[in-house]
Amino acid sequence: MKVLAERKHIALVAHDNEKPELLDWARFNRETLSRHILFATGTTGELLSKELGLPVTRFFSGPLGGDQQIGAAIAGGTLDMLIFFWDALEPQPHDPDIKALLRLAVLYNIPTACNRSTADFIISSPLMGQEYARPTPELERYVAQRSPLE
Ligand code: PGA
Repeated sequence: MKVLAERKHIALVAHDNEKPELLDWARFNRETLSRHILFATGTTGELLSKELGLPVTRFFSGPLGGDQQIGAAIAGGTLDMLIFFWDALEPQPHDPDIKALLRLAVLYNIPTACNRSTADFIISSPLMGQEYARPTPELERYVAQRSPLE
């Protein structure tokens, strides 16, 4: 169980064909996003910070390891939420990294939007502005069942 603060740490990622959609969504929701702490993969982050005029902490570009960095930050507990507009029509060179990121988002029970309507529902949730105790029973069960290596 992890308690998410009122100010969420939000990771945003969009594949090239989806970048216009994410930028449009972010522009529309700028006011809400400005109340949170934003992270993104390289190119997405550069475009978002220009578009919104808000600080965005940037990881590497997705194909260079940015998705893996975001996954690691989710596992490490520094990211609370993932807005990931991935391309459902074209394969990507880093498809394995994308699968890995989505797996960790599920495992750590991170609110995750992979399309605009889900992102709309998440960002308009009253939970965005409140503390939220995020349960991770699968994870806790796994840790409890692990026998020590030595
Ligand atoms: P980008 O990476 O923001 O650097 O374009 C996103 C991705 O392709 O995963």
